[in-house]
Amino acid sequence: MLRIVLPGLMLFFAATLLGCQPEEHAITTTSTSFALGDSTVDVVVHQSAAPGLTYLNLHDNEQTAVEAALSVLRREGGRLVELQHTGERNVTFTLDDSLYVFDPNRMFTDVGLRASLDTLSAATDTAHAVVRAFADSVLAIYRPDTLDAVVTVHNNTENRYSSLSYTDGGDYEDDALFVHVAGDEDPDDFFFVTDEALYNALREEGFSAVLQDNRQATDDGSLSVYCGQQGLPYVNAEAQHGHFAEQVKMLRFLHRLLHASPAAV
Ligand SMILES: [Zn+2]
Repeated sequence: MLRIVLPGLMLFFAATLLGCQPEEHAITTTSTSFALGDSTVDVVVHQSAAPGLTYLNLHDNEQTAVEAALSVLRREGGRLVELQHTGERNVTFTLDDSLYVFDPNRMFTDVGLRASLDTLSAATDTAHAVVRAFADSVLAIYRPDTLDAVVTVHNNTENRYSSLSYTDGGDYEDDALFVHVAGDEDPDDFFFVTDEALYNALREEGFSAVLQDNRQATDDGSLSVYCGQQGLPYVNAEAQHGHFAEQVKMLRFLHRLLHASPAAV
């Protein structure tokens, strides 16, 4: 027994003496439930004991993003707001015997929300009003107007949506003003931003980055379009599912850039 415990203790003291034991900040978690028809969506807030950026996770099937943001909350500080319901990307609810489906990152403008409901189910006025009220509640908790930057965390799937989607001939080429694809990085791991100074800082650091064309980007109801319309600095740290280390690296850089030394941007 002693032989098992001692090496562990020695390693612990050695690490402490060398200053290798990383200090972890405590996280407190609170949750508010919202009813949409017969369904419930929880808006969960993770608050680190240390100050930092405020992150938002809108898609409940993108858990690498949640784990990466929590890791940064423990090591650096900050706050994470996440939607929890079924573990699926989209939210489904029944209202007056009709089934509705919407994408929670397509609910922040009236035009985009109507299109999302219409594409995935049906865009009735009642369903629109219910989801619009929910979107306003999420914004009231996240409070983008009080932040130096809106920071969302998303995950994508290999060889589908990526920084390459915004290059010439890509599905979204018209939505981007500038695109930088870092040659030595996976194009699935990239930043999508609404602010040119931020775009330049990320590109210069060697990350892949896309600058949204705030004037002509398609109004799909996403938070980037909402922020573009409202003139709010927005950055999405987007990484492939499972790219935990890459996403942590992206978020730690953002923390240093926007929280620790914001004058640099
Ligand atoms: Zn997403």
